[in-house]
Amino acid sequence: MNILVINPPNKPFTNESILAEPIDVLQVATIIKQKYENVMVIDMDVNRMENNINDYLKDDNIIVFVYDYQLPLHTSDTVANMFEIINNTNKKSKFIIIGKTSSYYYEKFLNNGFDVVINGIVDDSIIKVIDGFVNEKDLSIIPNIEIKKENEIIITEKTKIDNKFDLLKYPDRSFIDLDKYMDTRTMITSRGCIGKCSFCTTPTFFGNWNGKNSKQVVDEIEYLINNFNTKKIMFLDDNMTVNKKRMYEICNEIENRKIKCLFGCLSSIICYDKEMFIKMYSVGFRWIHFGIESGSPKILNLMNKPMDIKNIKQIIKEVKIIGYRVRTSFILDYPGSTKEDIIATRNLINELEPHELRLHYLAYRVGTPVFENNKNIKNKTQYIHSNHPNIENDELTEEINLLIDDLAKKGYKLVFDDVNWNKYNLLDKNTKFASFIPIKYGMCWYE
Ligand code: SF4
Repeated sequence: MNILVINPPNKPFTNESILAEPIDVLQVATIIKQKYENVMVIDMDVNRMENNINDYLKDDNIIVFVYDYQLPLHTSDTVANMFEIINNTNKKSKFIIIGKTSSYYYEKFLNNGFDVVINGIVDDSIIKVIDGFVNEKDLSIIPNIEIKKENEIIITEKTKIDNKFDLLKYPDRSFIDLDKYMDTRTMITSRGCIGKCSFCTTPTFFGNWNGKNSKQVVDEIEYLINNFNTKKIMFLDDNMTVNKKRMYEICNEIENRKIKCLFGCLSSIICYDKEMFIKMYSVGFRWIHFGIESGSPKILNLMNKPMDIKNIKQIIKEVKIIGYRVRTSFILDYPGSTKEDIIATRNLINELEPHELRLHYLAYRVGTPVFENNKNIKNKTQYIHSNHPNIENDELTEEINLLIDDLAKKGYKLVFDDVNWNKYNLLDKNTKFASFIPIKYGMCWYE
């Protein structure tokens, strides 16, 4: 059986300067490879492939698409691209889809050519489903999937899936050619979060936070350094600093093994600890991201983000003094936002002056409270990379334009649309970016 694990394409394709290896796709392929020999990963985005995989097909194929699983790398148009790929397929194939969007909209996927939708965490179910196809067994006994059988959709038994990320081996990067991606390597060391932000899919989809232990994490760092000449690693965990004890153990392990590498990670204000951040800096952490999202206590409350503005200011000041390059993100059009809320956000941004500022319009992601509570808003985007507001509101637009003027005066490089990030001086630690699109990882920080 020929098993293809596919990272579907974006159209237009993702800008080459920000291409990150699809770690979640590699993770799924690594799980399958433990049981099945003939597994291949096809990254259709990096390889600039049209909606056709026929060159990779053999007589009998199982094709696993990974879309919107752990990393939000795709545009919403990718869904249509996947349906077209299935339509174009000219050999006997079974199609499986993994990810958040398909878990919520399983009917749409089953009605457009997919045979199986796997819900939630797939660590165990992916092997069960493939076993079922290989041995021609009845799939309806496998829990937590939806299948199409003779034009009927069958929803199988729902069981609780524990988030046991620490049981997984690290993703095998030899599935892909890493030279085709940005030069900062990426890792994911944990899954889930202790936060419950109302716009975020992580808490509901992955459940309780679970992370790999320090030995597992540092083994993977060494694997990247020894095999791929890695100098910088970005940890793309939703929130890497949830477990303080683990973070100290990781730092100690890096120190004990005398590892020379630089690191960046995503954290959150509620998981900040000054001493821990000093320790992290001492072993090579240089870049940190905080999702702050608003300067208005009212909006923070609506977002279910229990953060205090005074505390935010203090923390960002401290991490800058420690020496970190700091990125913060803000959502500008959260439902309920008024002119006063944007003024509060503008004031906070002006005071924090982070090195990198990611300005968002809200991605209404399926399964989140903000999605469920705002079904009346038409044409809302689910695409995390959208650079257009969901609701046109002159007052808000005016304030956002004033914020943009402020940032220009402060010397920020403003990025509104697709750009080749390599055109900027990536070595100048003082370069400041404010962007409405994803910012390249690994820029402007070094020893
Ligand atoms: S802190 Fe980040 S990962 Fe955690 S729930 Fe909030 S947005 Fe999601």
